[in-house]
Amino acid sequence: MHVAIAGLMLESVSFLPDPTTLADFQREELSGQAVIDGHRGTNRIIGGFVEVCEAEGIGMTGIVSAGAGAAASATDEAFDHYCTRICDGIAAIKDRIDGVLLSLHGAMTTVTRTDPDADIVREVRKVVGPDMPIVVGLDYHGNLDEEILRHADALFGYHYSPHTDMGETGARAARCLVRWLKTGKKPVTAIARPEVMVPSIFSATNLEPLAGLVRESIAMPSTVPGLHDVTIFAGFSYADAPNTGFSVVAVADDKATAQQAADDLSLKINYERHQLYKRNLVMGLKQGVDEALRRSNSARKPILLLEHADRLNDSTHILKELIRRGAPKAAVPFLWDPKAAAEAVAAGKGATVSIDAGGFSSDRAGGPARLNGKVLFAGDLTYRTTGPVGRGAEQRLGPTALIDANGILVSITTRPITAIDTDCFTQFGLKAEDFPIIVLRSKTHFRAVYQPLAEDILIVDTPDWGPADLTTLPYRHVPTDRVYPFVDRGRP
Ligand SMILES: [Zn+2]
Repeated sequence: MHVAIAGLMLESVSFLPDPTTLADFQREELSGQAVIDGHRGTNRIIGGFVEVCEAEGIGMTGIVSAGAGAAASATDEAFDHYCTRICDGIAAIKDRIDGVLLSLHGAMTTVTRTDPDADIVREVRKVVGPDMPIVVGLDYHGNLDEEILRHADALFGYHYSPHTDMGETGARAARCLVRWLKTGKKPVTAIARPEVMVPSIFSATNLEPLAGLVRESIAMPSTVPGLHDVTIFAGFSYADAPNTGFSVVAVADDKATAQQAADDLSLKINYERHQLYKRNLVMGLKQGVDEALRRSNSARKPILLLEHADRLNDSTHILKELIRRGAPKAAVPFLWDPKAAAEAVAAGKGATVSIDAGGFSSDRAGGPARLNGKVLFAGDLTYRTTGPVGRGAEQRLGPTALIDANGILVSITTRPITAIDTDCFTQFGLKAEDFPIIVLRSKTHFRAVYQPLAEDILIVDTPDWGPADLTTLPYRHVPTDRVYPFVDRGRP
């Protein structure tokens, strides 16, 4: 038996002005056998595909895989490029394969498409015909509806955010395909949508009541006969699409069992909608920085300031406030600014500099912060992730600088990387625990490492494109006449 494996991943913030280009995807592109070899042993969806197929003696042909993290809508050119390569690659071997495994995000948008993930699956279906299995692994933040299910046979998503189970998700998908191929028994998949949206910051699966709902989704298959797998997808509220929001997907032996499981959990999500949307945990900029400065004097561990509305790692709202207030010691890891990084690297280690950094990705990013200080590190930085999310994955930051601006340590990267573990300290010989205040921009992934490391996590809402208050966003495609929090209608 033999399967084709391909992937394309982008989490789109549709409101950002500069689209994600082909070049952005190409930085992480793998092609042919490198798709298999490059993912083997990684905690990624395709890593899970490879692990199960190799254990089960299933042959694999890698087509292409690419990703651009979380960024603006893709250009149509980039989407067409990868969609064509995936389809052409599968078409060339379709007589030799028994199934297709795809790794997609689910919350990609392009400049003109609102559900390109479903579009890829539809095009692949056209290539392989109606009977060949297509099984898809997806991000927990995917926005899904019936459309993708018209073309895919089964969908599997991460159970957790932070996404510590990406590899296991790929393995769940691959085990489903293997079971189908070996038994000849086709799985049936159903979806239900509670019409609820939450900001990413509240999609963390260790927050109740979401934690309990996720536990229930994982436990369901062991208590319901014929039910194989259930995923709660939180959706991604900054991708503007008709299907943005929560969904529940269930895979079972028969349609009724799958639909019942999906409907049950969907109703519970709708019922819990007020508790899922934790407005009272969000602080304003001044309030958050005030509290961090006050409490960091006596705290035994770092106070974390979360600039969660930043989608591209260049927001300067909190950094500027810390500078303005003369914060004595703080860390602002992985601020994205290629120009500032180049300038600092050119000045070199030990140089005294005055550099404008960050705040450029949109008119909501805060404008540049002036950093007056000393360059402590200057050079090209590439390393492998040591934290639990994406462990082993290569991180290429490009030319990178660390500047000490009167006690506020800012690392500036050429590529936009979100700091989610302590690599952003250890790569420079620093310890996170030594900083009374740490500014991060992660939504949920940081929690695996920083929840135990930090004294407290202060969620600060800044005016950037990922705010906690979704009603401030200029949606064009989200059905705001139907979905919570735009309307608040309990459903029976
Ligand atoms: Zn995600």
